[in-house]
Amino acid sequence: MDIFEHTILCKKCNAPMQKAKVIRNGFGLRALICPMGHDKIIHPADEEEYRKFKELRQKEYKVKMRIVGNSYAVSIPKEIVSFMQDSESLMNDMVRLCFEDAGRLSLTFKDMEKKDE
Ligand SMILES: [Zn+2]
Repeated sequence: MDIFEHTILCKKCNAPMQKAKVIRNGFGLRALICPMGHDKIIHPADEEEYRKFKELRQKEYKVKMRIVGNSYAVSIPKEIVSFMQDSESLMNDMVRLCFEDAGRLSLTFKDMEKKDE
């Protein structure tokens, strides 16, 4: 059973902490928050995921463009995909691609959007 399923009391006021979601850099983390605002506990598993996410974010990959039929293809490093893949498979999923800035494209994965809600 998940630790967040248990009632956890605030150390200061003894009120039961309430479930909440904290968004950091587009990354959703489960949290427990004191209704009086004394304390905030981030789920340890999510904290660990977030730490890995920050590590990956600092990395820069150099990938080659290839021609595949009438398109160009770039490879997304496996460690990025496997990080996002955690719960469900991303294979055959549609990814949103758009021109963000001159010289910059962005990819949006459905899975990550769901995590934010
Ligand atoms: Zn409190």
